[in-house]
This record gives sequence, structure tokens and C-alpha cells, in this order.
Amino acid sequence: VNAAQPAPCIGVLALQGAFTAHEDALRSLHVTTRQVRTPADLTQVAALVMPGGESTTMARLLETSQMFDELSARISAGMPVFGTCAGMILLAKEVLDGRTDQRSFGAIDIGVRRNGYGRQVDSFETDVEVSGLDRPFHAVFIRAPKVVTTGTAVEVLATHDGVPVLARQGHIMVASFHPEITADARLHQMFLQHNGFTTEHRSTSTERG
Ligand code: GLN
Repeated sequence: VNAAQPAPCIGVLALQGAFTAHEDALRSLHVTTRQVRTPADLTQVAALVMPGGESTTMARLLETSQMFDELSARISAGMPVFGTCAGMILLAKEVLDGRTDQRSFGAIDIGVRRNGYGRQVDSFETDVEVSGLDRPFHAVFIRAPKVVTTGTAVEVLATHDGVPVLARQGHIMVASFHPEITADARLHQMFLQHNGFTTEHRSTSTERG
């Protein structure tokens, strides 16, 4: 143990959307977090969570804040990223029903359809079995993207009605649902541990299933 080594900082993209609950989830694992709004913020973080929100807005704000290309380069260089809902859309290789000028990072070999669970079903909740977890995870879907294709390099970690809802390819992990709003940080922990970060999980009077 090297006591002089500063703890790595985990960034949460904070341009728009549901970022504060992600910070809470990360803090519950005793990791240092930082809100990322500028290219300078980005240089300070070792990994990034991209939250839910509105992917078209987030993509535009990534451009206007001069972060899109920086972030793209960091992702190519191996920075771990966990994208949830709109964040999943931003990381996907192919986006269906996006805006025509909507850019994505193409960091994971999946195709997603925005709002793919149907307009009439704005949101729903269900328990999903996650490989590697001993209890189901309560998944809250809000105008969620639906995975329509997965490449062979993609590891599907959970499905709902046969459709992947949690997936990973190397250092990139994505969820179509919102894992940050259930006070259950097991997926954040899985993301961090998979990428070699140390976490400490206090289990859990606050979790609900
Ligand atoms: N429908 C939103 C989008 O297309 C995603 C919704 C969410 O992140 N909860 O960006």
C-alpha cells in the first residue's frame, strides 16, 4: 500500500441530466468523485459516468463545451466509462431514431433505438438478474433506449424480455435503465471493480430491491 498515492477520481458528466444521484452512488462506495463540465475537469478523472437525461442535448453540450473530441480520445485511450440511459445512447455505435446530426462515441458495438420501449410506456420498473450479482437488481426504465443489435465482442450482463439491458465491452459498460436512483450501488461497484478501482461497499440498510 502506497499511502502517498492519491485516490483516483471518478468523474460524473454534469452537463445535463441525472448526475447528482450518480455522485451519491459513487460516494457510497467511498470513491472520490468530481463533476465534469470542461476539458480541464476531464483531465482530472480516471473514469467517467455518463448519466441519463436527454442524449441530443448532452451531445450538443459536449460539442459546445469542447469536450466531445477530448472525451472521444480518452475513451480510445482506454478510460473506463459507464453510460446509463442517455449515456448508453452516447456510447453506442449506432443510434436509431436520433437526430440526424446526433453524434455518438461508438465506444461499444451495440445499436440502440431511442425511446425504444414505446411512447405510451414512458417508464417502468422491473427486477433483472445480473450476471455476477447474487440478488436481482431493481431496474427503473425512463424513456429508455432499447438495444436492437449487439456485436460479438459485447458481453450481455442482464436482459429484460430477452433484450439486453446491461452490457459491457472492455472498459465500457452501459445500462438502458437508471441504476443511480435505487440506492443500490452494486452496478457502480461492478463497473469500478472490473476496471481495477478499489471500492468499499457498506452493505446496506439503504438498499431496496
Ligand atoms: N430518451 C432519452 C434520450 O433519448 C433518454 C432518457 C433517459 O436518459 N432517461 O436521450
